[in-house]
Amino acid sequence: MDRTAALQQLKPRIEEYLQGKGIDTRHNFKCLNPAHQENNPSMGLDRVNHQAHCFTISCGARYDIIDLIKLDNPGLDTAGAFEMAYRLYNIDAGGPTADFQPVQNEQKAPKYADKIERYAVALKGSEGETYLTGRGLSIETMRRFKLGYSPEEYNKPLGKPMPSITIPYPGADYYISRPISEKAYDKPKTSEAGPEPIFNLPALYSGAQAVFIVESQLCAISIEQAGGSAIALGGGGLNRLIQQLKAKPTSAALILCLDNDAPGREAVVKAGAGELSALFVNGSTAIMGVGLSLMVKTDL
Ligand SMILES: [Zn+2]
Repeated sequence: MDRTAALQQLKPRIEEYLQGKGIDTRHNFKCLNPAHQENNPSMGLDRVNHQAHCFTISCGARYDIIDLIKLDNPGLDTAGAFEMAYRLYNIDAGGPTADFQPVQNEQKAPKYADKIERYAVALKGSEGETYLTGRGLSIETMRRFKLGYSPEEYNKPLGKPMPSITIPYPGADYYISRPISEKAYDKPKTSEAGPEPIFNLPALYSGAQAVFIVESQLCAISIEQAGGSAIALGGGGLNRLIQQLKAKPTSAALILCLDNDAPGREAVVKAGAGELSALFVNGSTAIMGVGLSLMVKTDL
């Protein structure tokens, strides 16, 4: 049997799989998203798409059989889940199943990994290191975040090469640069690197009870250095975060701490009144505010 056919056979088995967990699929059942604790069942089986689907707007989780197997077996990767599923339902998938991974998980050769490593090595003893020390960061933190120094980083806003610090995005193939002499952040072209990711995204799902949402990357790093958890929106804005939380909710409380300027205040008001507040899953709280001047140096 070819693999596409094997997958077509596997998907509808979700009903059997759910029943095997003791779930009555004729009725709605309690949401299987671990971050969504609920008393009223709001998940149902979507037999057209072969997915378990949560109807609440704040959650909206959709799981196919592979997602469910992964939820039930923490630590199992997608390829492992396929193997388990095919074994469970006696489907002959003909060989290794790693290429069944969804397209977005496809491993592409990292574009910026080499540069990031090189810049991190160059930071030692450079004026970049002096600059970051002046911003209150420890050498340990610089290493942890692989901060780097590029003596001739071409800066698009300024239109010339500038001695710059480089800030890679944890968990992503992406970095931004900032000239040491001025606040002219530059990032890769979207056509080359894709849209700017959320900075330090893994912090959202690290199990931290609270995650600060700030604008600047160095600000997030300062909070992490102080023992907290933080992500930075960078140039991405709140919409990117809203999309992220829709796709994958977090159980962490989110503390929105945008800059104490007009756009920052406006974003907080909008988020409080609108979509972001609807995304907080049960049990999660949001503290919204502006201004970080009491905690860390601003104007980074
Ligand atoms: Zn749910």
